[in-house]
Amino acid sequence: MTYRTHTIFGVALAVITVRFLFILNIRDLNYLITGNLFNPDLIKFYLAVMLGSLLPDIDHANSKIGRKLPLINGLLRLFGIKHRGLTHSLIGVVLIVLLFHQLHITGWIGEVVLIALIIGYISHLIADMLNPHGIPLFFPNKLKFNLLKITTSSWGESVFSVVVLFLLSAFVLHLRGIVNLDFVNFTQF
Ligand SMILES: [Zn+2]
Repeated sequence: MTYRTHTIFGVALAVITVRFLFILNIRDLNYLITGNLFNPDLIKFYLAVMLGSLLPDIDHANSKIGRKLPLINGLLRLFGIKHRGLTHSLIGVVLIVLLFHQLHITGWIGEVVLIALIIGYISHLIADMLNPHGIPLFFPNKLKFNLLKITTSSWGESVFSVVVLFLLSAFVLHLRGIVNLDFVNFTQF
């Protein structure tokens, strides 16, 4: 998937997660969807989601993030970490959650950024599972998991990202009271 699809999908998953946290009475973070667009927390949240949604491809020298952070990419390759390996697996998720959590408890990042980075990271893995190459969820086991066959930079991917962007925009505008989508029974969501 291209970095554009990853960021769109990441933001969509973040909005859905915020809604679920609210509906399940776990946390009310609705201001991240319906609040003031210039709220620093809201801005940090979406920037961190986007960063998180690109982070797993740090293992690829030619990816957007791999080019931005060549030092980390070089280090990973030095340790023999190949593209769509460790960083694209459940162990990768656990390690990254531990790392982000450590950054959080030592005061480097706030809770909202912590949540955003984790959602973004997981969204990347889900999006890569829509690609025929799949990802090795249970790394070091090499078996690849994939759900769909959307090829990177294909027509299918463009259609997918436009549809996700459209649904996301409609849903956010509905929650912000700008458009009314009650006819599709979004009421309690
Ligand atoms: Zn990837």
